[in-house]
Amino acid sequence: PTATGSKPNDDDSKAPLPKGVVLDKDGKPCRTCTSVASWRALTKQADMKSSASTSTTTSTPALAAAATPSPSELPSDCPPDVEQLGRSTWTLLHSMAATYPEKASTEHQNNMQGFLKFFSKLYPCWVCADDFQTWMAHPSGRNQPKLGSRKEFGWWMCEAHNEVNRKLGKKEFDCRFWEERWRSGWKD
Ligand code: FAD
Repeated sequence: PTATGSKPNDDDSKAPLPKGVVLDKDGKPCRTCTSVASWRALTKQADMKSSASTSTTTSTPALAAAATPSPSELPSDCPPDVEQLGRSTWTLLHSMAATYPEKASTEHQNNMQGFLKFFSKLYPCWVCADDFQTWMAHPSGRNQPKLGSRKEFGWWMCEAHNEVNRKLGKKEFDCRFWEERWRSGWKD
């Protein structure tokens, strides 16, 4: 599953969910798996449904979506959506790669291996976590974390991020530049 698609709607009303809303494992909408725009469309839909039951005004999901503000119009102190959570997490992950030892001791490698194992189980967007685990566990072993050195680990993290970029239809990042982006800064 990916956080870009809707999950089956177990809501009592059986109304179709706005595009991009992902349900949690308990069947309720998952905030950290859904973009803020889709979340707003969902809350508008619920508002319109409840006002429709008390008035004669016509309401549709299309109207709800049309009233959705862009993410930049939203206050900054709201719970994170899937995109804000993702950006913050990639900053943490690439920064961990950027500060990784040039040559890592066995203990350091084991610590990072453990971190990535638990991270991929506990990441708050469950559909993202599931896909990330599946990618890491590719039967060929080719996607296992490369932890011997900063260069290896930074490149691996860049490839992991590109895997998600591809899934979401985003542009791939040229991994030759990961260190300039996350460690040294851009050369003039
Ligand atoms: P981001 O992808 O967040 O990137 C932030 C910055 O990193 C970019 O501006 C760029 O400068 C740099 N960058 C981009 N690519 C690379 C790279 N390959 N290497 C190094 N630097 C790079 N969202 C979903 O909707 N569905 C998912 O299934 C999903 N899975 C995720 C799994 C994980 C493990 C994580 C951490 C996030 C996931 N996300 C998912 C969130 C998604 O990856 C983005 O973070 C989110 O869509 C916001 O994207 P963005 O375009 O702002 O930039």
